Amino acid sequence: MPGRVLTVDLDTVEANTRAVVEQCAAHGITVVGVTKGLAGHPEVARAMLRAGVAAIGDSRLENIRRLRAAGVDAPVMLLRVPSRSHAADVVDLADVSLNAEVAVLRALSDAAAARGRTHDVIVMVDLGDLREGVWPDQLPAVLDAVVGMTGLRLRGLGANLTCFGGVLPTEQNMGLLAELAGDAERRLGVPVDVVSGGNSSALPLIAAGRMPTRITQVRIGEAILLGRETGERRPWPGTRQDACVLHGEVIELQRKPSVPVGPRGQDAMGHRPEFDDRGTVDHALVNLGTVDTDLGALCPLDDRLVILGGSSDYVVLDATAAHGDLHVGDEVAFAVGYAALVTAATSPYVEVRTTRR
Ligand SMILES: *Cc1c(COP(=O)(O)O)cnc(C)c1O
Repeated sequence: MPGRVLTVDLDTVEANTRAVVEQCAAHGITVVGVTKGLAGHPEVARAMLRAGVAAIGDSRLENIRRLRAAGVDAPVMLLRVPSRSHAADVVDLADVSLNAEVAVLRALSDAAAARGRTHDVIVMVDLGDLREGVWPDQLPAVLDAVVGMTGLRLRGLGANLTCFGGVLPTEQNMGLLAELAGDAERRLGVPVDVVSGGNSSALPLIAAGRMPTRITQVRIGEAILLGRETGERRPWPGTRQDACVLHGEVIELQRKPSVPVGPRGQDAMGHRPEFDDRGTVDHALVNLGTVDTDLGALCPLDDRLVILGGSSDYVVLDATAAHGDLHVGDEVAFAVGYAALVTAATSPYVEVRTTRR
């Protein structure tokens, strides 16, 4: 597969999704399948839906527009808290959004009311990771405001962890979310149906049977697309790690020293790299660079190849251990971490190609 291609195997995505959906269902939890790692790819969303996710989630309105344009009519959740200036698009494109700002909620309500509709919202609580969400002591005031907005329907509470602060879900912080949901029901006198407890970092707690029963939903991307939980990035049981593979092509292969020759300043990215002396090596250039993907989150599938570094348009490999086996024009395949996946999927220079195993 020459060129520069991100392959996504839809059968593997479907099987990974089915594994996660079944594990969560055993604990009374439904799954929102998150497509943002592949820029809202409609075929990926369909594979997740075939495997039983209750809804699709994505962080970008552009991606949701792409899903809608391709005819995906399943419920869609907007994951990134919306910009006030995009309230009308949010109401038009998403069935439910995650929110934490009263000013934005008011704009959503106005936009929905102007269309004669209601928009569903989940209010996000910050349980300590310090990304989105209201601090727990502010929650009652925000909830009171939401129930007074005629264009909105409060669907529930949510929280997101392990994204900014690296905080792991625990019985304690998930217990607090459950407790806040109970408080909200008593305060408002309406059922809080959805308690959306987290992302791929929540799977270990669920599988251990320690997720509080009040948690009804999780939003899962990486465990489906890359087969890993995200607290420690361990392979997740029942899933495969090879659904997504990035392919490049060898464009130069020369014998060269492994340490640069001459006085040194900065590299292309403004860093001062360090080099191990590996002697003279088979020095291979591959046609993938930082413009195409995050080179720090790539790992060659052929373990004889070692990434030495890269720049905007090249990855530099030590291919000495594959001497005689690798040639100019050959394909090199890389496993991708999340940062490599999402940058490749959104780079205009990388073709995304779906496969069936
Ligand atoms: C990205 C995201 C998710 C999915 O996270 P994964 O680690 O890929 O499972 C869930 N919720 C929110 C709010 C997100 O932004």
